[in-house]
Amino acid sequence: MLRINDIRKDFPILDQEVFGHRLVYLDNAATMQMPEPVLQAIVHHYRNDNANVHRGIHALSERSTRALEDARERVRSFINARSSDEIVFTSGTTASLNMIASAVVSNLRPESAVVTTMMEHHANFVPWQQACEHTGHPFLVAPLDEHGDLDLQALEGIFAENDVALITVTHVSNVLGTVNPVARIVALAHKWNALAVVDAAQSIRHEAVDVQAIDCDFLAFSGHKMGGPTGIGVLYGKLELLEKLDPVQFGGEMVDNVRLAGTTFAPPPLCFEPGTPNYVGAIGLAAAVDYLEALGLEDVRSREKQLTRYAEDVLHEISGLHIIGMPAARAGCISFTVEGVHPFDLATMVDKLGIALRSGNQCAQPLLYEAYGIGNITRMSPAFYNTFDEIDTAVSGLRRVIELLRLAV
Ligand code: PLP
Repeated sequence: MLRINDIRKDFPILDQEVFGHRLVYLDNAATMQMPEPVLQAIVHHYRNDNANVHRGIHALSERSTRALEDARERVRSFINARSSDEIVFTSGTTASLNMIASAVVSNLRPESAVVTTMMEHHANFVPWQQACEHTGHPFLVAPLDEHGDLDLQALEGIFAENDVALITVTHVSNVLGTVNPVARIVALAHKWNALAVVDAAQSIRHEAVDVQAIDCDFLAFSGHKMGGPTGIGVLYGKLELLEKLDPVQFGGEMVDNVRLAGTTFAPPPLCFEPGTPNYVGAIGLAAAVDYLEALGLEDVRSREKQLTRYAEDVLHEISGLHIIGMPAARAGCISFTVEGVHPFDLATMVDKLGIALRSGNQCAQPLLYEAYGIGNITRMSPAFYNTFDEIDTAVSGLRRVIELLRLAV
């Protein structure tokens, strides 16, 4: 059981007023707040141990390097990778997915297809679409069913009818909250001799992300969605695959020998981390892992599911409010439209009541424009530190604003 009153003290940012109202922060799918131990780990490193990594033999550089490599090991154990060499630090999910799309697509079997789904964030859509446009590989998009679940039968058909070399799929949708059966999708891909990439940006806090159990070939996530700082993320790759990939960005630290005649590269993960890495970000991310594990990952996930289910129930009662998608398993967020009310007006006005929701296309235009034909939505996304009272406050704020906006037309 989580002790919410104690946990709230770890997040002083939540204890503030916005426009004269108590802040109700329900935009955690965009960014989760950082707990004190993460902030302290970052400040402690800058105060005591800061120096560039891997380059010096002086004490501070060695301490910094050790802290970075300890963080790598911490992340390895968090996602149950076999080796810390499988953990590449990047600036976030977007950077990880861009890196893997650039490195992999040009090496796929000629004419083979890349498959993604209709529910992807642009970060897991555009890099693959662009890479396919440049290389001529067909780019196929798997459809959803009427509930907002991936249409697995249609996906099987895509594999059966095309030479698919790679599928990339989100574990949890940042709009519908759909939890995809990623292990099953990966097994399907492997059956057809295709690689499988998982976008774990949302699932990293809501679901168990065990890369050996999922058996994905690559997986990406960001620190800031799980209580770590911004500007740090992870690309996980099976070592035997990372060893075969050519680096796509170049510079210091990632090389072995640089001569006029040519350059040889360091082994993974270093060859994918050119330049000074965000080592303090990695240290903050490791502190976030420590924090979540100390709370109990199962407790964190089950509280978030309870809060999300509760929010879904109470939002349902608002007349004219339509929840987008009713997936078989939902995690982390609820998106909705309200008849006669523009999502931007809604989010702008509830903000004046101290309520932080997100409105827009949530970087998922294929889903919202092409699958649902709506464009913009409003999204509520609780984290474990939110309370049921906060959801009630947000819902009564929404009711008040919807009434006002309806009177105005
Ligand atoms: N994928 C999903 C499912 C997301 O929700 C997000 C961010 O919201 C991203 C990718 C991109 O993450 P980042 O902006 O941290 O790179």
